[in-house]
Amino acid sequence: MRAHYRFAEWTLTAGADCSVRYVGTCLDCGEFCVDTASADAAQGWCLRHAGLTGDKRFEMRAFQYFSADMTDPLANASPPT
Ligand SMILES: [Zn+2]
Repeated sequence: MRAHYRFAEWTLTAGADCSVRYVGTCLDCGEFCVDTASADAAQGWCLRHAGLTGDKRFEMRAFQYFSADMTDPLANASPPT
């Protein structure tokens, strides 16, 4: 993903662990599982939590880490010739 801001070009790069992470959260009590690369594992936590507590409302979130780097810092340092 690239974007121009002011006179520099920045690029977003997925983190070293670029896989999407999943977190299951119980909306009844607020408890949540450790984030995992497996959606099935996060859903499994929700099912186990429901079985243990009787709580019924859950939310699944997915997220990914990125870093922003200036990809062409010198391109606009000098005026065009
Ligand atoms: Zn709960």
